[in-house]
Amino acid sequence: MKKDTVVLYPAPGMGHIISMVELGKLILRHSPPNSITISILITTGPYETPAITSYITRISHTYPRSITFHRFPHLSVDTDDCSRSHTAIQFDIIRLNTLHHFSHSLHHIAQTDHHIRALVIDFFCTSAFPIAAQLRIPTYYFYTSGASALAAFFYLPKIGEQVDKSFKDLASTYLHFPGLPKLLASHLPEPVLDRNDPAYGDFIYFCSHLSKADGVIVNTFEDLEPIPVRAIADGCCVVEAPTPPVYYIGPIILDSIDEEVEKKHECLVWLDEQPNGSVLFLCFGSRGSFSEAQVREIAIGLERSEQRFLWVVRAPPRNTNSKQVSEYEEKDFDLNKVLPDGFVERTKGRGLVVKEWAPQVEVLNHKAVGGFVSHCGWNSTLEALVAGVPMIAWPLYAEQHLNRAALVEDMKMAIGVEMEEDEFVSGSELERRVRELMASEKGREMRERSTEMRERALKAWEEQGSSANALNKKHKQIDGNTATIVRGKLD
Ligand code: UDP
Repeated sequence: MKKDTVVLYPAPGMGHIISMVELGKLILRHSPPNSITISILITTGPYETPAITSYITRISHTYPRSITFHRFPHLSVDTDDCSRSHTAIQFDIIRLNTLHHFSHSLHHIAQTDHHIRALVIDFFCTSAFPIAAQLRIPTYYFYTSGASALAAFFYLPKIGEQVDKSFKDLASTYLHFPGLPKLLASHLPEPVLDRNDPAYGDFIYFCSHLSKADGVIVNTFEDLEPIPVRAIADGCCVVEAPTPPVYYIGPIILDSIDEEVEKKHECLVWLDEQPNGSVLFLCFGSRGSFSEAQVREIAIGLERSEQRFLWVVRAPPRNTNSKQVSEYEEKDFDLNKVLPDGFVERTKGRGLVVKEWAPQVEVLNHKAVGGFVSHCGWNSTLEALVAGVPMIAWPLYAEQHLNRAALVEDMKMAIGVEMEEDEFVSGSELERRVRELMASEKGREMRERSTEMRERALKAWEEQGSSANALNKKHKQIDGNTATIVRGKLD
């Protein structure tokens, strides 16, 4: 007898893959034992980094019968085409992989005795959507950011029609999205800033397909973002089409049980020695990095703040204007060359700098950590939320400015840093914000608020909690869909 499977198609990149794997594990946990399997499609080539390969191997060993990875054959693509933006090329690579390999993989899965119950795709894998529709497979999006960014992306095609200039040319204009604090046009995600860039058209195409799906699964919970959740439910965000069912099933965060740790990380050993709630953790996601000048200002701010800190520093990008490097950039660099002379000695005992990577989930949950300077990546946001740690919001790229606005203005879980015009943050500004979070009455209130939000996050997953109910509803919809659709060609 054929076994039911749910196919997950994450965008390439560690963050996207981890989120999808966690969703897969959640589906398994909430299904009767042995009733369903999870099949995950993986884009290979330069996108499958050693870290991703070892992660996939670990998950395959932990869930040998229930989670299977299907790697696309390697597709050679010209990634050095200077006539196109980096993002446009990345979107092209996903599209080409989808066109060449996606339906072949689905057929392969169906032929190996599986009945595909549903497909769950990442926002950036929208090119799979028409193919899945043709094959009559119920298709859902897994939206790996929050309800605020989802509300904005549902509405973005409409805003795109209302203005005739590129958003980058409306830099100081505020945009109004239903359910969101007002937002500077220049703070939209980088691919949509220039409407002459092919990435703009791609992004609008992704946005306009969200409403065509059988449902959108979102990694947030209703109590965290009640205002955009309400705006979406009231039909204010999707215009000219009905709003699809939206399932808020978060927070889903990296399950550290899957992490194979041979030796305790040096920073956790160091944290063991620090007083409770005293350490500020600074970490900017899997790709965030700063110019040497910005690294120096951070060091100045930390030193002058006189607070304890644990700081993850990444190699400054080769292009000094960039705040972001690819995951494949050179990892080896001399820390002493990018930090001010004598900084490490002067802050010895109260500060620790680690190169490249720290086990963030464990760090945030360490009792010594009392604050987090974050780039507002959504996974980092949820990890801090579940750990009950308040933040200083320093957005860098993607939808992070949207997340910052929600975190600072709606959720009141973060203090925002003031940026100069070129998004540079001075040492004195950082010093002020660090003192505010770690050593002021406002910081104490934010810590209380974060503890309260953590309780609410845990409640969302209790029996009859909003996220547990949303997941059950989604299961029921998939059951309904498969009962009523004429069975797809793949059966
Ligand atoms: N992360 C980590 N250690 C680091 C940097 C990042 O464990 O030094 C993890 C972090 O816990 C999170 C993910 O990488 O799970 C980053 O995801 P997020 O959505 O916050 O940001 P992105 O990397 O997608 O910009």
